[in-house]
Amino acid sequence: MIWWAAVPHLLSVVAWILAAPLGRRLPPRSAAILLSVAAVSLAIGTAATLTIVGYIGVGDLLPIGPTDWSAADVRERVPVPLGAGVAAVVVGTFLALRCVVALVDMLRSYRQAVRALEGLTEVSGLTIIEDESQMAYAVPGHGGGRVVVSRGLLRRLSGPQRKALLAHEKAHLRHRHHWYAQVAILSAKANPLLAPLRDATLLAIERWADQEAVTAVGNPAVVAEAIGVSALAMASGPATALGAAQSDVVARVRLLLSPPGPTKRFAPIGVGSLVAGCWASSLAFAGQVYAFIEAIEAAAT
Ligand SMILES: [Zn+2]
Repeated sequence: MIWWAAVPHLLSVVAWILAAPLGRRLPPRSAAILLSVAAVSLAIGTAATLTIVGYIGVGDLLPIGPTDWSAADVRERVPVPLGAGVAAVVVGTFLALRCVVALVDMLRSYRQAVRALEGLTEVSGLTIIEDESQMAYAVPGHGGGRVVVSRGLLRRLSGPQRKALLAHEKAHLRHRHHWYAQVAILSAKANPLLAPLRDATLLAIERWADQEAVTAVGNPAVVAEAIGVSALAMASGPATALGAAQSDVVARVRLLLSPPGPTKRFAPIGVGSLVAGCWASSLAFAGQVYAFIEAIEAAAT
């Protein structure tokens, strides 16, 4: 029964292996939704099992330990060695701190982005920054958020390419893509094995917005050109951002220009199995530990 606690962690390893191929075989919208749900499910499952194992393992040593049940009695039924309990507490604390730091960073950078837009004129949800920098991004917020583009980048794009770029950024706002991204990023902070699931979710979000841009301009080649020109322009930025941006862009352009393949039924079934397996094993473990504690408390009274 202790093995139930290991299942979410083993499924995280499976997700680490399968995230990228599953993401490529799902339509972008389905991939973004399913992969972010899988990421948060696995993050919750691994965090919950780690917390329970840690609490049982070192419950007697904590300054605020259980008062009406003994961790030692639970350990008789759920054999958690002290070393495993200590390891679970150390790892769990470290991962929880990573989540808190990431969340604070997210809120701080969002506030900075909103503050940077104060005083700038907005026309139909579009804010143009009058300088030669190369940037385009979407800032979510009240009233549907704002799309921000620099004059320098607009100058590099043809009319249809501008339309594609703006349709792409507006799709991010309309479909609230920032929520999927933040959920995936925080999940990977809570469980580093979920990093490929985070990357696949972020790629799916970009592909989803690319698809909306194709619908707006009616030509995948124009969207691919807009992505390519924007990526080349932004490549003049920090060298550290170069590699990731290029590989992402190459994958997006390739998927955009390749004909849509037949729907692979195993892909949604695979992601669904990961999610169902994670929730079932986590709840089974938590429920069993809870039942033991209840039984011990009942015997003590
Ligand atoms: Zn985008």
